[in-house]
Amino acid sequence: MLTSAEVILLDVYDLHENDRIATMLSSAHGKVRGVARGARRKYSRFAGALQPLAKANVTWFHKEGRDLARISAVELVRPARRLQSDLEGILLGGCLAGHVLEFAQENDPSEHLYRLLDSTLEALLAGVDRRLAARYFEAWTLRLAGIFPPPRRCPECGRSLERGAVLGAGDDALRCSGCGTGSPVSAAAVELLLRIGREALPALAADPPAAGVVAELEQLTGRIRRAFLQHELKSYRVMQEILCSPSRT
Ligand SMILES: [Zn+2]
Repeated sequence: MLTSAEVILLDVYDLHENDRIATMLSSAHGKVRGVARGARRKYSRFAGALQPLAKANVTWFHKEGRDLARISAVELVRPARRLQSDLEGILLGGCLAGHVLEFAQENDPSEHLYRLLDSTLEALLAGVDRRLAARYFEAWTLRLAGIFPPPRRCPECGRSLERGAVLGAGDDALRCSGCGTGSPVSAAAVELLLRIGREALPALAADPPAAGVVAELEQLTGRIRRAFLQHELKSYRVMQEILCSPSRT
């Protein structure tokens, strides 16, 4: 079947001497993996268009029963150069792609996840705070996976969580301190989660939360993600190891 769609490229790597394999996300088809024959050649028709996190119009042919599609045309719509121009940006981009590679399904519509990735990249390329963008993306990815609902009320007793909450070990929702035990979650972190649920990223960035609250949220989403996946994302671990290594702090 021949398909043309707007996609965001997630991952691009070399195959043999001449070819490249790209994994991409499309709204209607979910995760698609395809080979671009000859993409490594000097005068390839794909020249430079296969960039991780770029948005592109791609045409591919998929034969039933085959694992890999065959990419026949790529037209760049929005490059991701600004994000790929420094180490922190590259690692963050890898982390966004890593989330999508893990959470998106093959041949399954991913409208919400596509829109989340697209709008997050758009905001990042416009220069929005990277840490805030990463937390926004992490919290929403979990929510779209059906876990970690906005902490409006305690799921046990219905009490408001605006004064703070707790997260129990292995839990994927916050509870009030009367109903649950676990690590405390500050009122400011609860407020930030509620804002993430109702505000677009540029609006959130225009009236940003304190850096400490953003850092608290990173711990929180990390715990929930690890409990859900039963492992940590490799891209996230790599980012932590490089950005938090003693030589950089
Ligand atoms: Zn409660």
